[in-house]
Amino acid sequence: MSNRIVTPLVALSALSASAMAKDYPVQPVPFTAVRVTGGFWQARQETNRTVTVPFALQQCEETGRLRNFDLAAETMRRRAAGEKSFQNKPATIYPFDDSDVYKVIEGAAYALSIKPDPALEARLDACIARIAAAQEPDGYLYTFRTMHPDSPAHEWINQQRWLNDPGLSHELYDLGHMYEAGVAYYQATGKRALLDVCLRSAELVWKDFGDRKLRIAPGHQVIEMGFAKLYRVTGDSRWLELARIFLEARGPGGKAYSQQHLRVVDQAEAMGHAVRANYMYAGMADVAALTGDARYVQAITRIWDSAAGRKLYLTGGVGARRDGEAYGADYELPNDGYNETCAAIAFMMWNHRMFLLTGDAKYLDVLERTCFNGFISGASLSGDRFFYPNPLVYDGAAKFNHGFAGRAPWFGCACCPPNLMRTTAAITGYFYAVRDRSLYVNFFAESAGTVTLDGRPVAVRQETDYPWQGRVRLTVSPDAPATFALRVRIPGWVRGQPVPSDLYGYDDAAPAAWTLRVGGQAMHADLEQGFAVINREWRAGDVVELDLPMPVRRVHGNPKIAAVQGCVALERGPVLYCVEGLDSNTAPGVITLSANAKISAKAEPRLLGGVTTLTVADGATEKFTAIPYYAWDNRGLAPMAVWFKRAE
Ligand SMILES: [Zn+2]
Repeated sequence: MSNRIVTPLVALSALSASAMAKDYPVQPVPFTAVRVTGGFWQARQETNRTVTVPFALQQCEETGRLRNFDLAAETMRRRAAGEKSFQNKPATIYPFDDSDVYKVIEGAAYALSIKPDPALEARLDACIARIAAAQEPDGYLYTFRTMHPDSPAHEWINQQRWLNDPGLSHELYDLGHMYEAGVAYYQATGKRALLDVCLRSAELVWKDFGDRKLRIAPGHQVIEMGFAKLYRVTGDSRWLELARIFLEARGPGGKAYSQQHLRVVDQAEAMGHAVRANYMYAGMADVAALTGDARYVQAITRIWDSAAGRKLYLTGGVGARRDGEAYGADYELPNDGYNETCAAIAFMMWNHRMFLLTGDAKYLDVLERTCFNGFISGASLSGDRFFYPNPLVYDGAAKFNHGFAGRAPWFGCACCPPNLMRTTAAITGYFYAVRDRSLYVNFFAESAGTVTLDGRPVAVRQETDYPWQGRVRLTVSPDAPATFALRVRIPGWVRGQPVPSDLYGYDDAAPAAWTLRVGGQAMHADLEQGFAVINREWRAGDVVELDLPMPVRRVHGNPKIAAVQGCVALERGPVLYCVEGLDSNTAPGVITLSANAKISAKAEPRLLGGVTTLTVADGATEKFTAIPYYAWDNRGLAPMAVWFKRAE
């Protein structure tokens, strides 16, 4: 863990305390305060840091994404030197390719926060210098226009800045990712170079949209969250105002594809392009928290009910339609659904923010389902092969993955790999939260850190083999005896509820007999908003032992989901299972499972990076072994299925 985490700029400025008084009532404990010390996430973070980060940087170089910045800088340089008609052609296909570089820098910055790496930092500094060189004197930064200024270099681009952003230019989308990267790199290293590029850019956006009151709705949302981060780190209220302006500019009367059908405060259903939608809902949560605008909270609460109640896959994935990469209608959840990895990531961001607004664990239940299933499925165990869509069934041959059969090394549209990278690197940011004198334990993972509660440090350590075992030993050590409420999440899957809606249910919905011991003494704790609450005086070294039994659960879908009528799936703890052809004597798509089939769980430390498998013996006919869904397609191409036919 880096000790260079810098104080936000706001603390150094003369900003009054009241100007920043509003934010989420539940405050996240930043990922930099908690480190993974072993187990499930350590393997993923190490692969991410040592394989995915350098691989993604190399891809940004080899595919020309970084070269686009050089080409923009060259055009400005040569024109300034007198070659008035000089221009370059882009080295890549899409105007949004700039954003991949920013997301890679953001993810690499998070990796630096976990473990200093001077060579990586030097490489990132060099990338940032190339980005800075591509910024026009007035702060504009968008390589496709700057390198080719006389006429649009791509059909998505208008001759005028910004005007095609509601269409497909992605000018503001690129900036949103740059702002997130600039803040991340500043917080990881204390270096302002990229943040200063961001602030010059933000000044220009303010000039055009704040002062001149240009009103367009960003075609691909994300800048709303970017501006919220710039506001938090600088305290400059113009950045919060821009986040709000870009939300208020949406609808009514436009396309649902880009969430323009209604004003954002009137929207009630998760609709349109799923990544854009989820980024927007997360941005609305930020603006609601920072401004206190209750209309935004009401809108995203309604929208969330539609997503979690009628549009969510058992994997925690969303966005059923390949056409438009979009949310489907209610209960439109075909097993070959699209489920873009980025949509899962954006859904996690949104769910986390809903929890921070409300303190309700149901949002964390959904977040955890997405995290252990439809999110981590996006990266191979080797860290250098990826899924863009995440279907629940596969025939073993179709080129469903943007032209690839199975996992791909990179994509022409490469949004997903760097998004996986930044989310994995910062995963500990989901583990804890605080509110007044409450400490929330949200996620279970082998980890250690220090939480600041009521101004005092509290060291926290978890020892656990989660998600394979439900026993968690939590050591709580305040620096001096302190009275506060420890709120330990009791997951929905333990309480007999796979999701906080009627979209899926367990055949046997009886709650498992979970237990809680404090200082070795069994105790009863009431549940509040899904958390077991232990209110007492805590002393250094106090131990809480949580035992969450993990029986294998049979899951069924709501009868309104046509694709899973008469079907059953298997789960254990937070992990959803699937079957690959190489582990079954029946093709996965036609497996039947009877109610009395014997299912045994077995820890297999040498299989797929260490997993628990489920072996099913069903009379004389069926015998197969199920593996965690996230781990499919790590042993070569094979058919795969999550849902089985229920035997009569
Ligand atoms: Zn993506």
